[in-house]
Amino acid sequence: MEFIDAHCHLEHPRFDADVGQVIQCAKNAGLAKVVDAGSNLLNNRKILSLREKNPGFLECVLGCSPHDANKADVEAELSLVKQNSGGIVGIGEIGLEYHYFKTEGERGRQIEVFEAFLNLAQELNKPAVIHSREAGDLTVKLCEKYGVKTLMHCSLDPKLALAASEKGFTISVPALKSSSKSKVIKNTPIEQLVCETDSPFLWRQGERNEPANVISAYAQVAQIKGLEIEEAAQQLTLNAKAFYNI
Ligand SMILES: [Zn+2]
Repeated sequence: MEFIDAHCHLEHPRFDADVGQVIQCAKNAGLAKVVDAGSNLLNNRKILSLREKNPGFLECVLGCSPHDANKADVEAELSLVKQNSGGIVGIGEIGLEYHYFKTEGERGRQIEVFEAFLNLAQELNKPAVIHSREAGDLTVKLCEKYGVKTLMHCSLDPKLALAASEKGFTISVPALKSSSKSKVIKNTPIEQLVCETDSPFLWRQGERNEPANVISAYAQVAQIKGLEIEEAAQQLTLNAKAFYNI
């Protein structure tokens, strides 16, 4: 049985001291690969060097997150992605974050940056990894506009997950248990689901999350779909490989 963590952040400073051990622990737990997503110039660069140290295990997705959109040097970020396009498996994370950003200026800038990266994903023929909070309708509309293969990362909003799955997007669920997540899993065909940790985030009491914990998301999908863990793992891993072409 093998597993994939379809979205994590091993470049995060919380992993600086022991990233090698964390990766070994993930391999020991049965993970075949992890997909590390960037959010700004600094951590995109860090992810590229992590990939070099972990070939065939750590795959990378580069982008500019909506949290960083307002302070980003977008031209520099776009050109970093272009220069490294051969070695990446997707563009992300990109998207819209309306919970923390309320002004028209901030949101307008997020949309501009989001569209610039969607356009790049289309040009490079890479899938897009999307962060969306409180901006579901516009997010889906923009992803559709550029016609790129889309993954909705950390899908915890049943309404957005449903709209996205109806468009054929891939729905990525985190490892942490919640009732809204159960609803998302129940409503999404298993062929469109993948599992992630979003490490180091989204774990119990703010504890550091790690890719090895992704197995608990696989177990929850198996339980909700009434499958053996082996069957669920086979399908979910296949979905992640197909989405990222890895
Ligand atoms: Zn993330």
